[in-house]
Amino acid sequence: MTEIDILISEVGPRDGLQSIQTIMPTAAKKAWVAAEAAAGVQEIEVGSFVPPKLLPQMADTAEIVTYARTIPGLTVAALVPNLKGAENAIRAGAHKISLPLSVSETHSKANLRKTHQQVLDEVRAIVALLNSLPPDQRPGFEGSLSTAFGCTLEGPVPATKVTEMARKLIEAGCDEVGLSDTTGMANPRQLQHLIRLVRSEVGADKLTGVHLHNTRGLGLANILAALDEGITTVDSSLGGLGGCPYAPGASGNIVTEDLAFMLDSMGIRTGVDLEKLIAGRNIVTGALPDEPMYGFTPDAGLPKGYTPGGWGIDS
Ligand code: ZN
Repeated sequence: MTEIDILISEVGPRDGLQSIQTIMPTAAKKAWVAAEAAAGVQEIEVGSFVPPKLLPQMADTAEIVTYARTIPGLTVAALVPNLKGAENAIRAGAHKISLPLSVSETHSKANLRKTHQQVLDEVRAIVALLNSLPPDQRPGFEGSLSTAFGCTLEGPVPATKVTEMARKLIEAGCDEVGLSDTTGMANPRQLQHLIRLVRSEVGADKLTGVHLHNTRGLGLANILAALDEGITTVDSSLGGLGGCPYAPGASGNIVTEDLAFMLDSMGIRTGVDLEKLIAGRNIVTGALPDEPMYGFTPDAGLPKGYTPGGWGIDS
């Protein structure tokens, strides 16, 4: 596998598709996953194991996981809201599962219909299940701290609450925690502050990834702040598809194409081929012609004379 400095984890097939009404056909999802993997994306969150009644867009997640598992070198991630979801994800063969815990309890009740205590009970049940598996069949398990930077329902979320929930997730047995700006409220200084606080609480090796949105246009600035703190995995969505259906007004993930361009042009290795990545948009726009796709780089094109792997800095 290509050596990389920063892992771009594509979340469009999960975060993007679950927040729009149109259901993408299974064949198009597979083509999308295949195209991004062929463009060099090494990790894709391909779906969410939620009841189809709640999110019919995600009804074929098991099939997508099984398919994605056939792509060599690709890490296949899936979101699970509870033990049942984890059982299904393990059966389908996901390499990595993540369970969201909303630091804002109001959001937790709206999103997962659970209190913090109930979410932590699910985490402990999933950890017990994982511990019963042979080590080579055990997926990685991340607890993702959503609404960590603010909540559309509660407003500000105290940093002490974020560190407390991070500690509880690790104590419950998660391999690591992630920081999620579900509502697109974060700013770079807050990123720096929260990453340092959470790492001092649970250890630097237990916080390596962030999931940020571009709701207020600060997505890439926030990513840079996170990278300066030593974060190595960043989530994004092709065409910026998606947001959060339970966070009113929050739309727009970080655009994978713009993120990949920023990192590549800075000489930070991601393994992603920009032209192939941008070409993959056709699959999404073909299947979802009425959904807006975002991104400056795809519209502007690569700069004249662009050379991949670091550009524009004279020695
Ligand atoms: Zn998101």
